Amino acid sequence: MNLTHLSDLELWNGTKELVSKEREMTTHFLWHLKEMENRKLYRERGFSNLFAYCVEGLGYTPGSATRRIKSMKLLKNLPELVQKKVEEALNTGKVSLSNVSSLQHFFEKEKKFCDKEYTQTEKIDLLDKIEGKSQDQCQRLLFSISQNPEKTVLSQDRERILSETQSEIKFVASDQQMKMFQRVREITAHANPHPTYAELFEMLADFMLMKKDPAYKVTQKSHSAAEWTKTVRKPSDQSQPKPRQNERPYTSKKLEREVHARDHSMCTFEDPLTGKICGCKYGLEIDHAVPVALGGESTLQNCRLRCRPHNLLEAERVFGREKMEQHLSRNIGRNSS
Ligand SMILES: [Zn+2]
Repeated sequence: MNLTHLSDLELWNGTKELVSKEREMTTHFLWHLKEMENRKLYRERGFSNLFAYCVEGLGYTPGSATRRIKSMKLLKNLPELVQKKVEEALNTGKVSLSNVSSLQHFFEKEKKFCDKEYTQTEKIDLLDKIEGKSQDQCQRLLFSISQNPEKTVLSQDRERILSETQSEIKFVASDQQMKMFQRVREITAHANPHPTYAELFEMLADFMLMKKDPAYKVTQKSHSAAEWTKTVRKPSDQSQPKPRQNERPYTSKKLEREVHARDHSMCTFEDPLTGKICGCKYGLEIDHAVPVALGGESTLQNCRLRCRPHNLLEAERVFGREKMEQHLSRNIGRNSS
């Protein structure tokens, strides 16, 4: 596009107008995101969650997707009058998307790490206070009011790609976590007296994968992790974790390993419209194509890997969404009582 024909004034005003429209579109997008979340429409299209949909489906960077989702989560629970006020502030640039999302992140972390649940009034008060503030000023404000700012304001992990085969990870560890790392070092010192943090985390990951991942192969581990597990693992660790009480073992560990191997340890849900395969690798569950409740058998042919959201979607298709939501809320109630 060639804009050389515009006068300076036209260019100046045109740019300003576009920014204003861009902000309004972003606010409008947040409401679409909210409705998308309510309907869980992303699941049918082969995405395991809203974040995966924003990144893989809409092409946002992980940071942009996070800012939009967190801002939407803050906005959706506010009283309607306040929603309008925040929308106006976002549209006019008095408040940035980045600060609104930082505020939501802050509320979530304060609840998790400080057991502090902010009231609507407190949230609205803070929204007022971040108006006109830069990102840096907003972070300083949150730091000053937090009971545990290391966790709630500073604890954003960082991952940076260094080369094709190497990444750098940075995170803030608490005193308690440092003590736990030190203790792991002490009890494994005979295998590796001075492990680097990378080696330490590799050992811990290896230990967890051996216990929890049916597809994990011993050959995948490095020499240091192999040496470590050889000396640390007790005979009882070789066995798989026992099912919890009231949990019926529908599938054997052998079958689980076969399903993982065939499905390449990922959710194989496919959107029939676009052919998009979910591919999620987190929290995988074995799903019976014909449910056990309807006589389905635990065979390789009848079993497949699903992420939690897609396992639920399959169940909703058979038993209905309302029935599944009732079933889940009953289980949550039972577990929390
Ligand atoms: Zn999935």
